[in-house]
Amino acid sequence: MEFVEWTSLGYLLSAALFIFGLKQLGHPRTAPRGNQLGALGMLVAVLTTVLDMHLEGGAQWTLVIAGLVIGSLIGYWMAAKVEMTGMPELVALFNGFGGAASALVALSEVWKYLEGAEVPTGLKLTVTMVAAGLSAVVGWMTLTGSLLAMYKLKGGISVFGKWIKTPTWGPSWLNGVKILLLIAAAVLIYLSIGDPTNRQYVYALITISGLLGIILVLPIGGADMPVVVSLLNSLSGIAAAFTGFIINNSVLIVAGSLVGASGLILTFIMCKAMNRTLLDVLFKSFGGGGEKESLTRTKVGSDSDEVAMMMDGAQKVIIIPGYGMAVSQCQHQVKEFADLMKEKFGTEVSYAIHPVAGRMPGHMNVLLAEANVPYEQLIEMDEINSEFPDCDVALVIGANDTTNPAARSGEGPLAGMPIIDADMARTVVIVKRSLSVGYAGVDNDLFYMDKTMMLFGDGKKMITQLNNSIKEI
Ligand code: NDP
Repeated sequence: MEFVEWTSLGYLLSAALFIFGLKQLGHPRTAPRGNQLGALGMLVAVLTTVLDMHLEGGAQWTLVIAGLVIGSLIGYWMAAKVEMTGMPELVALFNGFGGAASALVALSEVWKYLEGAEVPTGLKLTVTMVAAGLSAVVGWMTLTGSLLAMYKLKGGISVFGKWIKTPTWGPSWLNGVKILLLIAAAVLIYLSIGDPTNRQYVYALITISGLLGIILVLPIGGADMPVVVSLLNSLSGIAAAFTGFIINNSVLIVAGSLVGASGLILTFIMCKAMNRTLLDVLFKSFGGGGEKESLTRTKVGSDSDEVAMMMDGAQKVIIIPGYGMAVSQCQHQVKEFADLMKEKFGTEVSYAIHPVAGRMPGHMNVLLAEANVPYEQLIEMDEINSEFPDCDVALVIGANDTTNPAARSGEGPLAGMPIIDADMARTVVIVKRSLSVGYAGVDNDLFYMDKTMMLFGDGKKMITQLNNSIKEI
């Protein structure tokens, strides 16, 4: 069999592994296997590509193997070191690297022409320059946009030990700049077809694309960040697919399209969850402003014994987890609480999952699955909201924006975002360290309602105390 057929077979196998892996990512139980299949697919794709390069001499092999080893070690080190709460930032960074990698490969193809390689003619030249141009625009834009998104998720950047808050800034004229930059990029791509060896076009396109990424993400903040992170994820795939066309690599086109399409689907799911359209997020800068509201009200806290006594009579409890559960890593204690309630008082316990709770899509599902909470008990917001009027206790653990009734007012960074209707329950118990605001920076009326009991403290500590108090009843 010809070698080229082995190459096609290798690519087909890796594409199949990607598709089956993606399918298995659809359920928390099968997701780890899906991840492994995807990684195996990538290994097959890399090995096939390397073999197809017909490397000659030790120097070329050394370079490829050194790249593989160094890249794997850095990737392993970053993934092993990252805290669970730092995962969204790592994902944003990886999206950016994906975009940059595609843009660099596209650049290397065009660079050959600048260095005197034979330039194709006719349709081939047009296709190459358009694909390289689009890969550059999407790739560099993804890099700068993702880096800014990463620092927005972190909240700021430390420069020489001084913490500088990442700004959220989006006057309406910035939309005009976005459109002008896009038109300029299209003109540059058109011009580069007529003059493919012009370096100035290449430099200008890189600069414009990088600026576009920054201007795209700069106005977005607050509750709209999940949408922009999943959009950047999709863009990194689209850049890879364009690059696949330039270097004629089918597996890159398949993998890029899969990432692009699944990222876009996730983006639309996120938009629906936030009650926004994609155009609203990109051009209206809902989360803008970004200043945290100052707190003027106070509330006396309760203690675990008092809350446990009240839990004694509860027939139906709904747990609402949020980012604070991820910070305190109290998912195991939360599961123990649910088991105790069932065993001791025969209480029906379920979990209300907001689509943007935490800092990444599916954040709560991952944590609760890790604590072996049965998947059937995790109920999505739209489905569970009607149950709150019949619910004795809504137990909010480190969730804030996703329960904030201010979202219903139609104003501010949370405007229009659907929330979990915790305020409709007979009693609300909130576990968090203080009255401070959530990610979007908006004070929460839920804390100050007469029926609300605040359990002030770290999630793990407070749920452990609550469990001990319940055991003593
Ligand atoms: P929030 O970010 O609104 O609030 C989390 C709360 O957790 C804080 O108010 C904090 O209060 C509390 N907390 C922090 N640490 C602890 C701890 N150790 N123990 C107990 N509580 C703690 O969380 P939500 O999950 O309700 O909302 C998510 C927000 O993040 C939304 O605005 C969403 O749009 C945004 N976002 C979501 C992304 C996603 O993909 N899911 C991505 C990017 C942003 P205190 O300091 O008083 O303890």
